[in-house]
Amino acid sequence: MMYANRCITEGNITDMNKKQKKLRNRILVALGIFLVMEILEIAGVFESLPYGQWIEFVAFLIPYLIAGYDVLAKAWHGITHKQPFDENLLMAIATIGAFSLIFFPESEAHMAEGAAVMLFYQVGSLFESYAVGKTRKSISAMMDIAPDYANVMRDGKLVQVDPYEVAVGDEIVVKAGERVPLDGIIVTGKSQLDTSALTGESVPRVVEEGAQVISGCVNMTGMLTVKTTAAFEQSTVSRILELVENASEKKARTENFISRFARVYTPVVVGLALLIALISPFFGFSISKSVESALVFLVVSCPCALVISVPLSFFGGIGAASRMGILVKGSSYLETLSQVETIAFDKTGTLTNGTFGVVAVHAHEGVDKDLLLSYAAHAEAYSDHPIALSVVNSYSGEIDRSHIENVEELSGKGVAATVNEHRVFVGNDKLMNAEDIDFHNCHLVGTILHVAVDGEYLGHIIIADMMKDDAKEAIDGLHKAGVKKTVMLTGDRKEVADAVAAEVGVDEVRSQLMPQDKVSAVESLLEAQGEKGKVAFVGDGINDAPVLMRADIGIAMGGMGSDAAIEAADVVLMDDKPSNIAKAIAIARKTLSIVKQNIVFALAIKIIIMILALPMIGISNMWIAVFGDVGVSVLAILNAMRCLRVQK
Ligand code: ADP
Ligand code: MG
Repeated sequence: MMYANRCITEGNITDMNKKQKKLRNRILVALGIFLVMEILEIAGVFESLPYGQWIEFVAFLIPYLIAGYDVLAKAWHGITHKQPFDENLLMAIATIGAFSLIFFPESEAHMAEGAAVMLFYQVGSLFESYAVGKTRKSISAMMDIAPDYANVMRDGKLVQVDPYEVAVGDEIVVKAGERVPLDGIIVTGKSQLDTSALTGESVPRVVEEGAQVISGCVNMTGMLTVKTTAAFEQSTVSRILELVENASEKKARTENFISRFARVYTPVVVGLALLIALISPFFGFSISKSVESALVFLVVSCPCALVISVPLSFFGGIGAASRMGILVKGSSYLETLSQVETIAFDKTGTLTNGTFGVVAVHAHEGVDKDLLLSYAAHAEAYSDHPIALSVVNSYSGEIDRSHIENVEELSGKGVAATVNEHRVFVGNDKLMNAEDIDFHNCHLVGTILHVAVDGEYLGHIIIADMMKDDAKEAIDGLHKAGVKKTVMLTGDRKEVADAVAAEVGVDEVRSQLMPQDKVSAVESLLEAQGEKGKVAFVGDGINDAPVLMRADIGIAMGGMGSDAAIEAADVVLMDDKPSNIAKAIAIARKTLSIVKQNIVFALAIKIIIMILALPMIGISNMWIAVFGDVGVSVLAILNAMRCLRVQK
C-alpha cells in the first residue's frame, strides 16, 4: 500500500514538472505575440488599416487563446458539470466580456486588457504550481525514509528481500550507507546512525551491540546485524509515513472557513458585478464604463489568493514541524497547538527517561534478596511498562518464561503473575492494600515496588528514574512562550512526584493518580481553562491513551511511547524530547499568524480595488485588477512558503 502511495507522490511531481514546462512555454509564446501586437497598437498601425478594429481583435485573440484555451475549457467543463463557480469561469467571463466590448460601438476597445488578464492569470497559476510543488517536494523528501529492501541470510548467502517479508525476530544485515529497514536490536556490530530524517537531530548516534535501532535511520559506518523487534507494518518508518500521508485530511477550522467563505464570496461579488453592469447605465454612466467596472469586480472576485495560500501555509507548517521530528497529524492540530495555555505532563517516560535503576533492595527478615529480585523480574517479564523493562534489565539471572502464567497488568498499581505456581504481586501501596497485604514503606526517595508472594510480604525494591536532559529547559521554554500553567500528573508516590516537580519547575503536581484520575484531572483543567485557550496533555504509556484523547490536544512520545499512545495522540515527538513542545507551539503560532496576515491582506486589497472600480469613482481598470489579483496571490503564496522554513 505504502509503495503505491509513494509512487503517486513521485508521479505527481514529475507530471507537474511536465505540465509546468508546457504552461511556461505557452505563456512565453503568448507573451511574445502579445508584445508585438501591443507595439503595433501603440504605433497606430491598426487604426490606419481598413477594418482596423477587427484586425486588432483577431490580433489579440491569438495570444489570448494560446495562453488561456485551457481556462476556457475548464470553465465550460464546470458549467456542463453544474459546478460553475470557480476561478476559471470568472476569468472566462471577465476576458470574454472585455473582448465583447467591441460590439458596443460607442465604447473603447478592451481587447489588449482581455488578453493581458488571461496572460497574467496564467503567470499566477504557473507560480502557484511551482510553490505547491516545492512544498510537496520538501515533504516528500521526508517520505524518502522508506527503505526498499532488507538484507537477510538465506542458505549462507546474503539476499535482498522486500521488508514486508521479514518476520519479527529475524536477523537482518544493514551495511554501511544503507537505511535501516525495520526496528530492532543490534546483535553484532558497531556503527554511527544518522537519525536526522526522523528526529531532525544532526549529530549521529553511536550504537553498538544491544542498542535499539529504529527504521528510517541511515547506517553510516559499520556493518550491523539486527534482530527485528517489529514487522515492517509496525516499524517506525511505516507508522510515520502513514501519519504524514493522512495529515492533510484533518482540516483546520480556518481552512474550512476559507473554503466556505470562497463559496459565498465569489457568487456575491459576481452578483455585484452584474448589478453594476445593469444599473449604472441608468445613472448616466456609459455602457463601456459600467461593463468595465463589472469586469474589474469579476477579476477581483477570484478567491485564489486565499484558497491556495491557506492550505499551503498549513501544509508548510506541518512540513517544518516534521523536519524537526515533530509529527502533527493534521492542520486542525496546528491550529489548536497555537492556542495552548495549559499543559499537563505525565511523569514517567515523559519528563523522565523511564529507565529506572535499582537504588536498593530491602528484603524482609529471612528473605533472600536474589529471590526477591527474581520473583519481581519474572512477574514483570511480560509487561511493557518502563518500570517492568527496567526491573527485567537490571536482573542478572536468566528469566525462565515457561514458568510464568496468568499475567495481569494492574494499571496504575503494578502487575500480578503466577511464577512457579506461586501467586506474585509487584506494585505500589495501592496494590498491597487491594490485596490486603501488610507492608511497610521506605524512607528512601524513589519509586517503590512491593513484592508479595502467596499473600506474604517479601520486601520491596526501590528504583529511581533519571530526569530527561531537557525536561527543565522544556518547562522553562513553555513558560517563556506564554503557556500559563504547567501541571504534572503521575501515578507515582508523592515524595518522588514532588522532588521531580521541584526540579523541573512545573506549577502544579498531582500524584498517586490512577489512570482514570488522570482523565478527571485533565477534565478539571479543561473546565478551569474555559472557552479561550486550550489544554494539552503529554504522555507516553498505554494508560495515557484515554487522557490523550480527552485533552484538546494530545502529544505522545514517539520513540519510547506505546503504540496506543501514538495512535491516540494528535502530535507525536519522534525523539521523545519534551523541549520540542515549545518549538511545535512556535511553528504553530507562526503558521497561524501567516494565515491571518494573508487573509487580511488579500481581502483588504480586493475591497480597495472594488471600491476604486465603482463607476462613480472609476479609478481602477482591468490592468489594476489583474495586477492586484495575481500580485496578491503571488505575495500570499510567498508568505505562505515562509511556513516551511524552520529556525533551529
Ligand atoms: P506515571 O503516571 O508516572 O507514568 P503509571 O500511571 O504508569 O505512572 O503508574 C503509576 C504507578 O503504578 C507507578 O509509579 C508504580 O508504582 C505502579 N506501577 C505501574 N505499573 C507497574 C509495574 N509494571 N510494576 C510495578 N509497579 C507498577
Ligand atoms: Mg507514563
